[in-house]
Amino acid sequence: MALSFSPDIASDYAIEAATLVNRRGCKQLLEQSHAAIDTVAMAIDRARRPCSGASPSELRPAVDRVCLDGPGIGFSEALAELGPLYLDPAIYFHHPRYVAHLNCPVLTSAAAAEMVAATINTSMDTWDQSAGATLIEQKVIAWTAQRAHLPASADGIFTSGGTQSNLMALLLAREHYSARHFGPGSVAMNGLPPEAARWRIFASEMSHFSSVKAASLLGLGQKAVVPVAVDSAWRMDIDALETAMDSARAAGEIPIAVVATYGTTDFGSLDDVAGAARLARRHQAWLHVDAAYGCGLLVSPTRGHETRALAQADSITVDYHKAFFQPVACSALLVARGADLGHVTHHADYLNPVEAAEAGTPDQVNKSLQTTRRFDALKLWMSLRSVGAEAIGRLFDAGCALARTTYQRMLAEPRLDLLHAPELGTIVFRFRPSLGLAPAVLDELNEAIRSDLATRGEAMLAATRVRGRRYLKFTLLNAETTPDQMDEIVTLVLCTGERLAADRVPTLAVVGGRETRDAG
Ligand SMILES: *Cc1c(COP(=O)(O)O)cnc(C)c1O
Repeated sequence: MALSFSPDIASDYAIEAATLVNRRGCKQLLEQSHAAIDTVAMAIDRARRPCSGASPSELRPAVDRVCLDGPGIGFSEALAELGPLYLDPAIYFHHPRYVAHLNCPVLTSAAAAEMVAATINTSMDTWDQSAGATLIEQKVIAWTAQRAHLPASADGIFTSGGTQSNLMALLLAREHYSARHFGPGSVAMNGLPPEAARWRIFASEMSHFSSVKAASLLGLGQKAVVPVAVDSAWRMDIDALETAMDSARAAGEIPIAVVATYGTTDFGSLDDVAGAARLARRHQAWLHVDAAYGCGLLVSPTRGHETRALAQADSITVDYHKAFFQPVACSALLVARGADLGHVTHHADYLNPVEAAEAGTPDQVNKSLQTTRRFDALKLWMSLRSVGAEAIGRLFDAGCALARTTYQRMLAEPRLDLLHAPELGTIVFRFRPSLGLAPAVLDELNEAIRSDLATRGEAMLAATRVRGRRYLKFTLLNAETTPDQMDEIVTLVLCTGERLAADRVPTLAVVGGRETRDAG
């Protein structure tokens, strides 16, 4: 009997051929990209709110129902299906009422460049997989290093984000110290010496948690990171750093690194890099500058000069996906002496043999923790070439200016507690109604405001804890948001706060025949 498929069975099995990107495939890719961008454009048009507020339990059944073992349904159907699964509930960072985390709206030039990089599918590990691309990455790194005033010996590498950049920086710090004291490659080969239990890294109490995580991954333990107090402007207190480093020495501990945060995640505060550098040098410790957020100042037409002190860093983290309006992922670690990247070099015969390095082949894998790696430099390159660095800097400046204006207006509202004048684009504050509420109730009330606004899709704010108390946070990166739109968000916070506070007023107590409120 001849095998034959009935038409419906055939359509069940091959509604759409699996097409690879090649000369023929590009026609299909063009149609699919067009359809994809159309769908995204409609979703953005429909997004009247920054988020839908849908909970994981509301969304999960629809995702669970999708059968991934079945035949394909065709690209158009799959795209249509994405509506309820992803595009409707997605969080829209371009929306003026998205003021939560360090997520930026992205440049169109960068988003389009993602398509180029994905389609060519370059991998940045070796020159023989990345001809051309490697030179573009190297040039973007050299450009950034120059903006950061690093010396001509500087180099760097694109990473998956600030977390990986900070891990790599502290790994280099560890290797730098141990190479001097135990010989080159000693830790890489033999693991940590017993003395490593006394190695210490100093970072402000406001520094990003990724340094602590890195210390744990590097075998130093989270306790190796010594938290340094901040001053009244939430910057690392340099006197406190000095005391902490001296006390560590006196206790037989060994400072191997100082992390200065250039733009803290909560306050946008800029640590005194020159002060940190002086103390790091005195103790022969590595100075890492975590500029994941503050790197936007490198392209600021008005504040670029403030970045001069970065020249003293041994390494710098920059997150272009926070401050340069680039899609995730786009980040780099810069080092003052390119040779230090040799601490992560491993020669594999099949990939980057030592002979290739000797012949001068620019294999970027020699400088990276990753092997196969995306060509993330391309999108930044395309943005720099399309609109120029200054335009990117103006966008960053606009977020900072919006924060200053919003802060000034918020100061006039007695029901708002403000913790700092913004140095970059964040504002940490909380709602405190005129009625006295117990501290714990006030904490819970502020979290309830955030959650209420998010669940109703009205606005997305961030929440954080400062010295044990709960606060709300605006993170402003959107150059197109106006002060009046920020006023609307502040009004929403106040109205929601009043409404929720009404449920939480202290119980009425009758004291001595008179009604009093028990102000906690
Ligand atoms: C966001 C942030 C990081 C982590 O960067 P990712 O790109 O999210 O991994 C590190 N340091 C600071 C100061 C940050 O704000």
